[in-house]
Amino acid sequence: MDLKGPKIKDYMKRVIVEPEKKVNLAKYDTGWAQTEELKDLGEKKAQEKLVRMLEESRTTLEKSQDILWSDRSYGILIVLQGMDTAGKDGTIRHVMSGVNPQGCSVNGFKVPSAEEHSHDFLWRYYNVLPQRGKIGIFNRSYYEDVLVVKVHPERLETLPQDLGADNDGFWKGRYKDITAFEKHLVRNGVVVLKFFLHISKDEQKRRLLDRLEHKDKYWKFSVADLAERQYWDDYMEAYEEMLSATSTDYAPWFIVPADFKWVARTFVAEVLVSAIEGLNLSYPKVNEETVKQLMEAKAKLENE
Ligand code: AMP
Ligand code: MG
Repeated sequence: MDLKGPKIKDYMKRVIVEPEKKVNLAKYDTGWAQTEELKDLGEKKAQEKLVRMLEESRTTLEKSQDILWSDRSYGILIVLQGMDTAGKDGTIRHVMSGVNPQGCSVNGFKVPSAEEHSHDFLWRYYNVLPQRGKIGIFNRSYYEDVLVVKVHPERLETLPQDLGADNDGFWKGRYKDITAFEKHLVRNGVVVLKFFLHISKDEQKRRLLDRLEHKDKYWKFSVADLAERQYWDDYMEAYEEMLSATSTDYAPWFIVPADFKWVARTFVAEVLVSAIEGLNLSYPKVNEETVKQLMEAKAKLENE
């Protein structure tokens, strides 16, 4: 897979996190004016353009997924991370709306259960990885174990005391566990694409308020989200450290500008399409002998 090749557009390359690069999230614009071209178009026309691109990507994706399934050697894992209201659910709905439901799986991860906590932190993710030929989406992921848990160390599972969960080295160890896990996946034919939906704190306020202003959105609001918002800066710091430590050539992070849903969705769709195209797959070739048998079957059916 060549994520830096010509199939990836320039503005996407800009938001791939280079391995070991120190990430400063404040330097990543969360808005829509991501390129000179979009800027020149202005917001309304830029939106029209990106919505059209999303439509095209969805059509391509439908076909790409069919080929991925027929080839049955690669699996695709999409990891979606972001603060509350960043648009993870909507992105999944819009990007995947055209694909065959049999060819994809979506798993969301909540606070781990007692059983999950009684295993190592990767256990619960491992069993629900996508099979070959499928696209699997993780709505939150093992990255929560170095994000929410790092911001609130009291939520860490019980570990032997001598593992030093209270020191900095502990988190570095977890980053290493994660990159080793992803290396293992890639070596076994899983393409790993990781998206951080990056919204501004102001935009989160608007989205939370929106949930409180519409009765049919009340269900989306959780008082806990407001409590987490107080830790915004701690989260940004945890994200920055995590992004710097876990973006690799084989499993890169994309920092997706997400204040405008039409930007984030188009972006994720484009990267996904480019990544699958980069695999250069085609429908399995049928040999001459099989074609002969197929034609005989056809003739039999026609002559019934
Ligand atoms: P939501 O995505 O809105 O359904 O919320 C899921 C909640 O589960 C979020 O508050 C996450 O921070 C929390 N969560 C997910 N994974 C973990 C984890 N490994 N440890 C602790 N909390 C988690
Ligand atoms: Mg939530």
